[in-house]
Amino acid sequence: MGQKIAFIGLGIMGKPMAKNLISGGYELYVYDLFPDPVAELEKEGATGCKSAAEASSNADITVTMVQDGPQAESAITGEGGVIEGAAKGHLIVDMSSIAPGVSQRIGKVCDENGVNFLDAPVSGGEPFAISGDLAIMVGGSAEDFEVAKPLFDILGKSSILCGAHGAGQVTKLANQICVGANIHALAEALTLAAKSGVNPETVYKAIAGGLAGSNVINAKAPMMVDRNFEPGFRIELHYKDINNAMEAARDLDVPLQVTSNLQQVLTSLMIQGEGKSDHSAIAKYVEQLAGVEIKKH
Ligand code: NAD
Repeated sequence: MGQKIAFIGLGIMGKPMAKNLISGGYELYVYDLFPDPVAELEKEGATGCKSAAEASSNADITVTMVQDGPQAESAITGEGGVIEGAAKGHLIVDMSSIAPGVSQRIGKVCDENGVNFLDAPVSGGEPFAISGDLAIMVGGSAEDFEVAKPLFDILGKSSILCGAHGAGQVTKLANQICVGANIHALAEALTLAAKSGVNPETVYKAIAGGLAGSNVINAKAPMMVDRNFEPGFRIELHYKDINNAMEAARDLDVPLQVTSNLQQVLTSLMIQGEGKSDHSAIAKYVEQLAGVEIKKH
């Protein structure tokens, strides 16, 4: 304990995660492109920095939590990035969800610079980031996993080493396929209920305890019936993940039919300006086709 951690990317997920590490007794050096979250973390006891390199130069481990591959590469291997400030033997833990190939590329640059690297994307969203209950999927070496484990134990309720660099990201893509397909199926189920004149909220409650019950429907059905599409997890991020899944599938020659359909649904929602809505707004796509709204009676 008392170990120094740099934390880069203080958005919906990164901010509460950084706060949990401070509560867990770590000394934090934080950086974001925007000043407001840095100032907020300073009030919680963190030291604000002017670049990712400045933050990593003060720390033993750096956590990054940014949107996608281009942001992760810029924050880690770019100018003023984490590697610039990191001493040999420093450990970088990228918890962003990015394409597995990009994680492997970052891992290679880290190797060349004598810096250790783990890809460690998460599932659970903002509520679990706040409560420290994330599910963490890790790619990298067993030695680096052991070094990061005390952090993972603060941030999450589970952390599993899935394989070499990129394996955590492959696992996250699998997660996003299951989550997105389930939300789409839930939207269709509740739209059918709404147009049949059966209260969608009652349908949700009736099916939640059976085989169809899941964390996904418990989180998203109430949002659909309350017409609350505040993120949470934005459509634009899910769109990014599903595009990354399709890219990986193309590289590996894997036909993904449900996933490619989901990609079209998310593309349509992006065009309709729903990128900033929660992914429960997949319901709006289905509702438009059916000419009915999911809402409680
Ligand atoms: P966000 O857009 O709210 O936050 C990203 C933050 O990173 C922003 O504050 C941005 O300014 C900062 N950033 C970007 N590039 C940077 C750089 N080079 N240097 C410093 N800061 C930089 O996104 P989020 O919702 O917190 O998601 C972060 C990651 O976690 C994404 O990959 C997302 O897919 C994943 N994720 C999100 C959720 C969720 O529910 N929001 C759930 C699971 C996983």
